[in-house]
Amino acid sequence: MHRLFHLKNRTDARGALLCGVALVLASCSGAPAQVNGAETGDVGAGISAPNSSTATSILNAGVMTTMGGSDGTGLKLLFDPLYDDHFGSLEQLPPNLIEAIISGRPPYDGVDAVFVSHAHGDHFSPSQLSRMMASQPQLRLIAPDQGIDRLREDANWQASFESRVTGITLENGEAVQGIEIPGAEGAVIEAFRTPHAGWPDRHAAVHNISYRVTAASGKGGTSRVMHLGDADPAAEHFTALSKFLSAKRSGLAMLPFWFYREDNVNQIIDQTLNAKAPVAIHVPAETPEFLENGELPFFDSVGETLEIPETQ
Ligand SMILES: [Zn+2]
Repeated sequence: MHRLFHLKNRTDARGALLCGVALVLASCSGAPAQVNGAETGDVGAGISAPNSSTATSILNAGVMTTMGGSDGTGLKLLFDPLYDDHFGSLEQLPPNLIEAIISGRPPYDGVDAVFVSHAHGDHFSPSQLSRMMASQPQLRLIAPDQGIDRLREDANWQASFESRVTGITLENGEAVQGIEIPGAEGAVIEAFRTPHAGWPDRHAAVHNISYRVTAASGKGGTSRVMHLGDADPAAEHFTALSKFLSAKRSGLAMLPFWFYREDNVNQIIDQTLNAKAPVAIHVPAETPEFLENGELPFFDSVGETLEIPETQ
């Protein structure tokens, strides 16, 4: 069990954990390796108002972010929330969790948009997303065109959904800015493509899209998150994007767990991706030892929450 982020075995108030994480993240801005030194169950003491921007794990690469308040006024986004396949090593979504996300039951109520990183079965469910679009008439969907094509083939897909969909086609190393979500004015949504992990031998034709989303933090500042899907961590993939990435510092980078295997992971987070803090996602059901024994935070069960550090 990772001491920082597990809620399931804790009996103290959720707020206490949130504050504890806030302190840890604040202590590691720009230097995530220092997270370890601050790790303790009681670090929340003395911290008052929790940040109103949070990231909460769903399962696998699924994350819910709330930026600028959890009272319905903020921006609530889901990344890779619904998927069909566990491939024998990943967590399966339990049916009640699937139904809560599809129908928008709290805490998945009032979702502004769903982001899909790529059209692989452990990140994407055409049938469940089609049902979610039918169930939540305000919902926007942003996905690679490869995924949109699959959605259009689904029996539950309706032509009326098209006006709420943004499809993305990019080459590796390309970025796109200015994606709009009606109803989320002020939010800045950007996307870029880098190769899927395994490149160039595996999945080279799959469009893996990373998203960078910026919104008001609710505390007078800015919240900015990145979700990297199944990105390959090799530095060469990010060279063409260096101007795009260096232009804006993210508070939180949500990374597939294999980034933590890289010797220079802290440099990748801080400099290449230009993020203050990371959290690893896509963690197998049996949590790898290098994560358990490591210093950096990860999500490996539903409902784990951490704060998104403020940025500019
Ligand atoms: Zn994949």
